[in-house]
Amino acid sequence: MAFTLPELSYAYDALEPHIDARTMEIHHTKHHAAYTTNLNAAIQGTEMEKMTIEEILANISKYPAAVRNNGGGFYNHNLFWAIMSPNSEGEPSDRMNIHKAITRDFGSFENFKKEFSAAAMTRFGSGWAWLCVDASDKLFITSTANQDNPLMDVVEAKGTPILGLDVWEHAYYLNYQNRRADYVSAFFSVVDWHAVTQRYNDANPGASNF
Ligand code: MN
Repeated sequence: MAFTLPELSYAYDALEPHIDARTMEIHHTKHHAAYTTNLNAAIQGTEMEKMTIEEILANISKYPAAVRNNGGGFYNHNLFWAIMSPNSEGEPSDRMNIHKAITRDFGSFENFKKEFSAAAMTRFGSGWAWLCVDASDKLFITSTANQDNPLMDVVEAKGTPILGLDVWEHAYYLNYQNRRADYVSAFFSVVDWHAVTQRYNDANPGASNF
């Protein structure tokens, strides 16, 4: 079964001024579309055609580089669009499980933001910063190169990603040029914490027992 490029649930200009419409449109219709097309080409006629994207990523060491690059690109952007919203409240409300878990594991939301931003800033070249849930329900921050992600069996820090930030230059260069720090800071104005807390709950069915 072929993978399909998802529609965004908001308009390309909905995240302005934090992420501009032109960047969003090119990012979705060119970059994400290409990862999707190339992933489908790379899995055609293989056992991967019957697998979910999560299953493919969990076994990525068995598959060609084209699947790693484009399967990662397909999954990562699906997550990225889904955890942003024009209706962001900036930070999670203290009633959300994700707020409780962030406070538990990072001390405070401010400290989490500082550590996540540092991960995004220190990723050299192209890649992603992630907030993940590990096997024992703890949150951790990590970053990966290129289109790798924490679901892949080849990465050092494995877990379920619930928030991801694309720090490839194609994600910000038109509006921010070399100012990655300004882009990282602006990202926090568009994070959909309802979507993140939902992903946290799904990754960790025990979470509702706070
Ligand atoms: Mn991208």
